[in-house]
Amino acid sequence: MAPGSSAFKEVVESHPKQMNHKTLKMKAESGTVKTSMSLAEKHSIHGVHELLQCPTCAGSMYPPIHQCPNGHTLCANCKIVHKCCPTCRFELGNIRCLALEKVAESMELPCRYQSLGCQDLFPYYDKAKHEKHCPFRPYTCPYASSECCVTGDIPFLVAHLKEDHSVDMHDGCTFNHRYVKSNPHEVENATWMLTVFNCFGRQFCLHFEAFLLGTAPAYMAFVRFMGEDSDARKFNYTLEVGAFGRKLMWQGVPRSIRDSHRKVRDSQDGLIIPRNLALYFSAGSGQELKLRVTGRIWKV
Ligand SMILES: [Zn+2]
Ligand SMILES: [Zn+2]
Ligand SMILES: [Zn+2]
Ligand SMILES: [Zn+2]
Repeated sequence: MAPGSSAFKEVVESHPKQMNHKTLKMKAESGTVKTSMSLAEKHSIHGVHELLQCPTCAGSMYPPIHQCPNGHTLCANCKIVHKCCPTCRFELGNIRCLALEKVAESMELPCRYQSLGCQDLFPYYDKAKHEKHCPFRPYTCPYASSECCVTGDIPFLVAHLKEDHSVDMHDGCTFNHRYVKSNPHEVENATWMLTVFNCFGRQFCLHFEAFLLGTAPAYMAFVRFMGEDSDARKFNYTLEVGAFGRKLMWQGVPRSIRDSHRKVRDSQDGLIIPRNLALYFSAGSGQELKLRVTGRIWKV
């Protein structure tokens, strides 16, 4: 496809605001109009979209959009970096591209997560802001420690945890989990475990790990919710660990997996067991850590 100029002209001449709005609306409302309209429309929206991509850094352009004396556009960041036009080497000067800024202003675009269920349209300048917090944006894999960068919706990630990380899956809202670790004196930040619980038709991640609390070795258990924070707040959980008539207990609100594992840990939002106490509860020779963590999740 021939880039840019023809598509740009086409849109400017036919009043982009009304046209884009109307067509996108039609797309949303009517499946039949879609096929005949969308080809041409997609073409021009795609064209305008391309024009709003900085030719130098490929990022989306926001005002002030600049151009060189020969009309090559570039974004505000690239304008700061370059003295001469990266395309034609002409000295840049200080020329705004108001026409393109206006076109951008008039555009309404679907969220980039439309295929994942987000049905709203957004003005060009609000789109990026929305997408950062779009509830339909994919979640990242909640498996800690690794550099796993798999993303997807919850059912996809549950399958991924099971198949690719061999994570234990449990049904039910109560748990009784035994953690055994040899050499408990080697506390590495990377020692951790994950179990997934299915309850109330939702999934919860129970994390257990060794880490350094300041300079003191400790263990920590906490629950994360596989979903949005607003839904996570509808639940409460308790965790308990103990032996010999002594007990540590934690009651908390599960954290959404939108909050990284590390963020939750560093905020100490969970059951923290100092190592000495953990070894006491283990009742062994100190060569092996054996902790029984029990707990429950319920709806508030
Ligand atoms: Zn740029
Ligand atoms: Zn130029
Ligand atoms: Zn969205
Ligand atoms: Zn993963």
